[in-house]
Amino acid sequence: MVSRKFFVFFAVLFFAAAQLLAAPAAQKNVILVIGDGAGPAVMAALMQYAKLAPASPYQDRLSNLEKIMKAGSLSFVFNTPVDTVAVDSAASGTQLAAGVKTYPTAIGVDAQGGPVDSILEKAKKAGYGTGLVTTVYLQDATPAVFAAHRPSRKYYHDIAVDMLKTKPDIMLGGGLNYYVSKNNLKDSKYNNIFEKVHYAAALEPQSKDDGLFEQVLKSGYQLVFDKKSLLSAKGPRLLGLFAPQALPFVIDRKPAYPLLKDMAQKALDILAKNEKGFFLMIEGGLIDWAAHNNDQGAVLKELLEFDEALAVVADFAAVHPGTLVIITADHDTGGFAFNYRYLSGAELEQKKQDGYPLYEDIDYVAFQNLDKIAAQTKSFDALIKAYAALPAKNKNAKTIQKIVKDATGIDLPEGWDGGAAQPDIKAALARATEMLGVAWATQQHTAEPVLAVFTGPGGGPYPVPAVMHSTQINNIMEKYLL
Ligand SMILES: [Zn+2]
Repeated sequence: MVSRKFFVFFAVLFFAAAQLLAAPAAQKNVILVIGDGAGPAVMAALMQYAKLAPASPYQDRLSNLEKIMKAGSLSFVFNTPVDTVAVDSAASGTQLAAGVKTYPTAIGVDAQGGPVDSILEKAKKAGYGTGLVTTVYLQDATPAVFAAHRPSRKYYHDIAVDMLKTKPDIMLGGGLNYYVSKNNLKDSKYNNIFEKVHYAAALEPQSKDDGLFEQVLKSGYQLVFDKKSLLSAKGPRLLGLFAPQALPFVIDRKPAYPLLKDMAQKALDILAKNEKGFFLMIEGGLIDWAAHNNDQGAVLKELLEFDEALAVVADFAAVHPGTLVIITADHDTGGFAFNYRYLSGAELEQKKQDGYPLYEDIDYVAFQNLDKIAAQTKSFDALIKAYAALPAKNKNAKTIQKIVKDATGIDLPEGWDGGAAQPDIKAALARATEMLGVAWATQQHTAEPVLAVFTGPGGGPYPVPAVMHSTQINNIMEKYLL
């Protein structure tokens, strides 16, 4: 038995070494990683947390994002659409995917509404492997722009149809709602499939009865619905639908759901088998959603998950030297900022008593606040829903105070609700946010330009302009790959 084990061990070792030597030299890969809504201040928050938080989980105090930034080259990227200043994920994504300026809400079409081929579609035609990975639903704007062509992001069903036609080798994310109809769900011949869907009770089918689900089943995709089946999946075609819509925020996510790094790793494992190489887009889609909610605790957890996926990508690129890696955002969401505050009254006295660092009664945001933000236990979204579900008799300022304290560690000061007859949990969460030294400018997107990080073949800097438009990122990727 021992010798047999040894034989297997050496055979595996030999095979791995042979793969390392043989495949990568000829392969060209582009991995585009998009932090949806992760403007410069959001990316900086991850780096500041890694470096400054007393309980930072990063032993060397550097996020993977910062390590990659240090190794690579950096560009300041305007995402301006064709005739507006602010942008959405549809226009910005189309600009990245297809290299043409377009209008907000456009999915893979130019400013005149005409379809434009994405780098994914061109790569597929040229014989490369292709993949889309996201934590939101696959039919949402960012993944959709790579494989669909519609005048508006609202046409989810048509986008789902398009994506199945384009057929990237790998599609991992949420969005089963858009592939099933109510009748599919009731049809007993599909029982064996829906048995495997752990979130089946939450499905709200959105598909028309036009045979889309049957097409999915006949399309040659291996279908997976949870983390376990993802990890054991072999491909070569893999469709992972891990939630009815988006995956839950990672702060609320149960173990049956995969993490972004699990999806990224599987996509890379399968796509690496393509002799020519591949194009893969990986999206941290919920960074944007958490930022829309002005929920810094949920944003930080999404960023930490994103950063783990970056480690997977960097490790892959280190042993596949033909790989161009780009990490960017499609736009900023929320206008996040750490900011100092003048303190007075009870809050000032309490902070003095606690030995909290203050300079002339000003709170410049102590490092310990970063740990507090990271220690948040539930998303604001989950807290708001839990409060809304309480019986009316339990809805009061005291209950809110307890919910906020339990989830964020923040003690709201006396009279925080201003004596309102119906205290508002959203106002309480906003107050707690302010007390952590965090400010949000908006619940929508800002027009702040974003950062893009490039590491070229070999993992070093890649020559790029210092300032560019997002369409140029597409040009750089296509020039490299095609
Ligand atoms: Zn958004």
